[in-house]
Amino acid sequence: MITPLDVARDAALERFRAWLDSRGQSATPQRMAVARAVLGAPSPVSAEDVVECLRAQGPAPGVATVYRALDALVSCGLAQEENRHEGFRRFRAVRDDEPSEELLCTRCGRLTVIAGGVAAGGLASAVRAAGFIPVRHRLTVYGLCGDCALVRERGGATAQARSTKAGAN
Ligand SMILES: [Zn+2]
Repeated sequence: MITPLDVARDAALERFRAWLDSRGQSATPQRMAVARAVLGAPSPVSAEDVVECLRAQGPAPGVATVYRALDALVSCGLAQEENRHEGFRRFRAVRDDEPSEELLCTRCGRLTVIAGGVAAGGLASAVRAAGFIPVRHRLTVYGLCGDCALVRERGGATAQARSTKAGAN
């Protein structure tokens, strides 16, 4: 079965091939395999993730080769690098045609993507009411992930206990 996502990925791979070609670089099987792995991943991936994914399919390129291909994907505009303060780089596919909402934790940098455009319904009617023709959308909700919220809750409870005590004095 061919899904709209497959079609989008094939179009992106063609774009990558053309981009490499325009720079006199060849679309080696390794580069294309890295591109396919990143563009097909449901969430952002590290170079190690890509190597692991490719190793499952046969001989995998080294991490340095993967990084070069990842950098090319970013330069070409098909992938985006994410800074999540993890000590290594993660890359996500840039999909122009797919509505998505993402939740970004401002404390630890964890990114959760809600696929399928959950907010699209309400947004679509507001957009239509404005007489606007939408092409794509990406919505980022900034806040705290479950783990960080828990940490803050604990910290908050302590602070509250302190202030209650202070109030009692
Ligand atoms: Zn967090």
